[in-house]
Amino acid sequence: MESIGVLMMCPMNSYLEHQLETRFNLHRIWTVPHKTHFLNLHSGSIRAIVGNATAGADRELIDSLPALEIVSSFSVGLDKVDLEYCKEKGIRVTNTPDVLTDDVADLAIGLTLTTLRKICECDRYVRSGLWKKGDFKLTTKFSGKKVGIIGLGRIGTAIAKRAEAFNCPISYYSRSKKPESNYKYFPSVVELASDCDILVVACPLTEETRHIINREVIDALGPTGYLINIGRGPHIDEPELVSALVEGRIAGAGLDVFENEPHVPEELFKLDNVVLLPHVGSGTVETRNEMADLVVGNLEAYFNKKPLLTPVV
Ligand code: NAP
Repeated sequence: MESIGVLMMCPMNSYLEHQLETRFNLHRIWTVPHKTHFLNLHSGSIRAIVGNATAGADRELIDSLPALEIVSSFSVGLDKVDLEYCKEKGIRVTNTPDVLTDDVADLAIGLTLTTLRKICECDRYVRSGLWKKGDFKLTTKFSGKKVGIIGLGRIGTAIAKRAEAFNCPISYYSRSKKPESNYKYFPSVVELASDCDILVVACPLTEETRHIINREVIDALGPTGYLINIGRGPHIDEPELVSALVEGRIAGAGLDVFENEPHVPEELFKLDNVVLLPHVGSGTVETRNEMADLVVGNLEAYFNKKPLLTPVV
C-alpha cells in the first residue's frame, strides 16, 4: 500500500498523520507552495483524500484527481464533501460516526451550563480580583428547563439523555418523527423554539438546514431563551444572532461553531451573554485517536477489498 497516494487536506491530528504515513504515500497539501502544479504532478497516483470539518473534497478538487477512489473524512459531518458528485463518479465516502457522540454531547451540556451559569465570566471575576469588591451576580438555573433539540440523531439523542438527568423535559424537530422516541415532536423549528427554554442545534449541515436558525426562530425563542450550537456555523444566520444578542431579544447563546471559522464576529467579544468555543466538540485525545483509527481502518479496508467500516457513499 506504500505506493498509494493519500492526500491530506489540512493538519488534523499527529497520530493520524503518523498512522497514514507508515502505510501510504502521504501528501500534506498545506505544506505545498504551488498546489495546482503539485496536483498536476501527482494526480495519477492520488487515490484517496483525507478531509475533515474544515476541508473536504469539492467538485473542483475531485475533477483534478482522476485516480481518486475514496474520501475518508476525519469527521461525522460531510458538508465539506460533494456527496452527490462522489456518488455520480463512483467515489466511496466514509466518516467517523458514533466514536465522537459522547464527547460532543458532553460538550453541549457543558456549554449549556457555562452559558446559563456564566461560568467563564465567574472565572474572570475571580482572576481579576473583582470578588474582593463583592459577590457575583445571580445567574439562570439549568435543571428542569425545557430543552428543544434540532436533529434527534446520534448526538441529539445523547444530549437528550444527559439533559434528562437534569430533569429537563425534551422535545425535538427533525424531518421525520422518531417512532422509537417518547420525546415530544414538533413539525417545525419555529414551533419547537416557541415551546422551549434552550434550543440545541445538532443536525447535519445541508442546503435545507443552512440558516435553519433565522430571525423568526430567534424571535420565537424569545428574550428568556438560549441557543446552543454544536452542529455547524452556517446553521445560524450569524448577523441575525449577533443583533438579537446585542438587543437582548434572546437571553444568551453558547456556540462551538461559526459561519466563517476561525473568524468570529467581533461584536460577540464584547458580550457577556454568549460563550464562544473554537469548534472543539470532538476535541479529546481519546476520541480523536478513535476517529483516526476509523479513517485509517476505512482506507485499509477499501484497498484490501474488504467491506468499509463506516460507509456513507
Ligand atoms: P446523525 O446521527 O445523522 O443525526 C442527524 C439528525 O439530524 C437526524 O436525527 C436527522 O433526522 C436530523 N436531520 C437531518 N436533516 C435534517 C433537516 N433538514 N432538518 C432537521 N433535522 C434534520 O448525525 P450525528 O452523528 O448526530 O451528527 C450530527 C451533526 O453534528 C454532524 O452532521 C456534524 O455537522 C455535527 N457535529 C459537530 C461536531 C462539533 O465538533 N461541534 C462534532 C461532531 C458532529 P431526520 O433524517 O429525520 O431529519
